[in-house]
Amino acid sequence: MNDNHTTPTQVAKDLVVSLAYTLKVAGEILDEAGHDDPLLYLHGHKNIVPGLERALTGMKVGETKSVVIAPKDGYGDYNEDDVEIIPRSEFPDEIPLEEGVEILVEDDEGEEVSATIVEVTKDKVTLDFNHPLAGKELHFEVTIVALREATEEELEHGHAHDEDMEDDEDWEDDEDWDEEEDDDEWEEYFGEEEDEE
Ligand code: ZN
Repeated sequence: MNDNHTTPTQVAKDLVVSLAYTLKVAGEILDEAGHDDPLLYLHGHKNIVPGLERALTGMKVGETKSVVIAPKDGYGDYNEDDVEIIPRSEFPDEIPLEEGVEILVEDDEGEEVSATIVEVTKDKVTLDFNHPLAGKELHFEVTIVALREATEEELEHGHAHDEDMEDDEDWEDDEDWDEEEDDDEWEEYFGEEEDEE
């Protein structure tokens, strides 16, 4: 770094935060990133759950904090209506119909959403469209490892770039982390057949 900017010391919008964290739900560690391999994210751009982003705002480099986040500020409340039963015959062969498997489908607005297969019977498949952590209280232990100004490109993309990462020229793709290949049949099916009310 040889520019004249002062190094940021407090978490604020448009800074890239290196975050070490542990996420626990119901006492069980679900996710973590160590000090030597922290999560890099762009603050103030909704790249992390709102409650965590709010709690991190203003934290200083080196500071550690425990944060408890209610479902509404995390992955949302669990909604019973977001569970749907679909005839098994409607599923493309290449989709593994195993309980616990997450798949991508298109919703009424044409947005791609993920669903978890919760039950498979002889002729029916139950899909849960709730986020796997919906309705859960999130317990984070966080440490701010480092801060830096975001680059122009990062601000334009709305997310942080790992320094080791190659330029992501086709960044429009990196917004949705899916493979395009075998989604088509899905989209057709759900796009046409899914009708609420
Ligand atoms: Zn990018």
